[in-house]
Amino acid sequence: MKKEFHINISRLRSSMETMGKVGIIDDSPGRSRIALTSQDKDGRDLFVSMLSSEGLDVRVDPIGNIWGIRAGRTDALPVMMGSHLDSVANAGIFDGSLGVLAGLEVIRTLNEHGIETEKPLAVASFTNEEGARFQPDMMGSMVASGCYPLEDALQARDDKGISVEAALKEIGYAGNDRLQASSYLELHVEQGPVLDREKIQIGVVKGIQGIAWWHGTYTGEANHAGTTPLDYRKDSLLAASELCCEMRLLAEKIGAGALATVGRIHPYPDIINVIASQTWFSLDFRHYDRTVFEEGKKEVEGLVRRIARQHGVSCKLEQVANALPVSFPLSMVQMVERHARKSGYSLAPIVSGAGHDAQFMHRMCPSAMIFVPSRNGRSHCPEEYTSWEDIERGTNLLLRCILELGCSL
Ligand SMILES: [Zn+2]
Repeated sequence: MKKEFHINISRLRSSMETMGKVGIIDDSPGRSRIALTSQDKDGRDLFVSMLSSEGLDVRVDPIGNIWGIRAGRTDALPVMMGSHLDSVANAGIFDGSLGVLAGLEVIRTLNEHGIETEKPLAVASFTNEEGARFQPDMMGSMVASGCYPLEDALQARDDKGISVEAALKEIGYAGNDRLQASSYLELHVEQGPVLDREKIQIGVVKGIQGIAWWHGTYTGEANHAGTTPLDYRKDSLLAASELCCEMRLLAEKIGAGALATVGRIHPYPDIINVIASQTWFSLDFRHYDRTVFEEGKKEVEGLVRRIARQHGVSCKLEQVANALPVSFPLSMVQMVERHARKSGYSLAPIVSGAGHDAQFMHRMCPSAMIFVPSRNGRSHCPEEYTSWEDIERGTNLLLRCILELGCSL
């Protein structure tokens, strides 16, 4: 039996804080490493220098994903860790950077203790996870896993008309390598309040919930607010208002984590004494279970039509997004859970409300995620915070899982 060894939290903290200084503009409280900007290039350059000083073989693919490979005893496909170094504007230091730099810390720990693995290990930073400048988001992992065509991604343009292809060339990160992995693990901050509120140290991520979006319109009749009796009205705004409340009740009825939201409502003509003839709205429905997700979508559509009939208005509904739920393989989820239990950490199964690179790497190879608490559920802001004790636990758990995956053939 090998002696227990652990990651070095002060070394990881120092790397996180060093990366956290990249992209600070004019003493602002947050940093901005928006994908493929000069600040993103600075973050990438720092990461590449860190990979090189650990003696890793640095690779870059045509969409600019960067990864470093540590050789194993065999030339099997690597066990990969990773996340993203790009950020939203005015971000904290944890979202994304944690998964990348914790992966590097795992490799540093193994190097320090001279531990060999059967399979090679790799740590990756995926291009444009945030989608703040170029869409779609999660672009690097989507392209690497074959879920989005490289050509289309390279042609995506920002508000100024600059293409991903041009921006990648400008910062010198258009490579020729092919990203491959035998399995993938991503440590990430929860970005929600559950673990922090429940005082749970580790979230064992079962999957990522599906997201459906619609745009809809109710069309009734404009008329005088003072002269039209209630039972003569065809009030599109009243129908949309009922839809807001009924969407909430529908989510409660479905239960088990279902979420339904009317985020936008635009009545027309939007005048104080006129019954709105037309009301445009957006709908968002989420669930992690594929069957419940599919049934829930039908219920949402049925609800929109039923309310239209009750109010004597017509309706139009167009679905504009449909990202199916992801369930990580049970063997991977159970591995995370087993090592968390063995280490004596408090844990809970959790479903990710946000998208992550793991949801696309999952299409390439068995994948899983580990969540650590986000204080007050805050993220995408300078106040984003996870305690270093939680990060130490999460990274040690990552190490244990990587050893299991890397030492089996
Ligand atoms: Zn992230």
